[in-house]
Amino acid sequence: MSAESHADLLMATPFWIPEADLGVRCLACSRECRISEGQTGFCRTRVNKEGRLQRPYEGFLSALADDPIEKKPLYHFFPGSRVLSIGGWGCNFTCPWCQNHPISQNLPRQREQRSTSPKELVNQALEEGFQCLAFTYNEPTVAIEFVLQTFCLAKSEGLRTVLVTNGSMGARGARALAPYLDAVNVDLKGFNAEKLRQVVQGDLGAVLASIETFRSEEIWTEVTTLVVPGFNDDAQELRQTADWLAGIGRSTVWHLTAFHPDYHYQKFGPTPVSTLEQAREHGREAGLHFVYLGNVPGESSNTACPKCGFTLVERDEGRVRITENFHGLCPACQNRAAGRWA
Ligand code: SF4
Repeated sequence: MSAESHADLLMATPFWIPEADLGVRCLACSRECRISEGQTGFCRTRVNKEGRLQRPYEGFLSALADDPIEKKPLYHFFPGSRVLSIGGWGCNFTCPWCQNHPISQNLPRQREQRSTSPKELVNQALEEGFQCLAFTYNEPTVAIEFVLQTFCLAKSEGLRTVLVTNGSMGARGARALAPYLDAVNVDLKGFNAEKLRQVVQGDLGAVLASIETFRSEEIWTEVTTLVVPGFNDDAQELRQTADWLAGIGRSTVWHLTAFHPDYHYQKFGPTPVSTLEQAREHGREAGLHFVYLGNVPGESSNTACPKCGFTLVERDEGRVRITENFHGLCPACQNRAAGRWA
């Protein structure tokens, strides 16, 4: 079967099932919305029309950009490389601090936009010399069929594929994506299931299941926690997160990033650096080998060999320098560093 036929089949894979009285149940994310005729699901991007789930905003892009892979963030996946970053519309969470709320909480005005196809995106990546393509900026799970088709075509052309997600696809979606996916960054927004449900309308169990599934499918997986004052900056919660991550593998990369007031969440100032440093300490105490701070001016985010401390990758204000002769084995002690290296 050609890559295009394979991709078409994926596009046709129904992430929904029919229900009684012309209703449908969407299976794209763990929310599993039951959608009545003429209504949309929680994310508003998926519609029931005459008993079939339709995706009227598919292929409408909110952004298409040339990014460093470090911006995803992925620090252990071909550092210093560039990625064609694709953004769509909509989200299935409701984070009140969302820095991308103009695209995550809104839909495109179709008349003003042209829809793009997976083939066009892959061709653009190839023509512009990218080796990697990423779905990022909004939540890609709400367009999982389009993501799958694009990734399938991208893999057939030798491109690497990356997903930046809130993990809401759970184990089922993660398994569906895994054959076409090289690396993922999952946003683990907190470790208190009740708060997560109330504040961002997320399902902690599904997020954790997606992380475990990506890892067990050998997809390179990094995890990000935006440390939000008043929401998830409690020491005990951060310690629990660190312990869980260390439990699935001490080589799990954990990014702790600073919050800045945005959107509906203005009652607190930016995350104090001391809170992030304390969280990093929890990570180290839990046994994690790689914990990085993000959005902190002047903060070093070098990668050091966990065995001997030798610097493997230096990152400094957007510049990335990979130590000579480092291709995965520490040049000083020959220890293998977890990640995908050139
Ligand atoms: S992708 Fe959207 S419609 Fe489907 S289950 Fe999730 S929130 Fe509901």
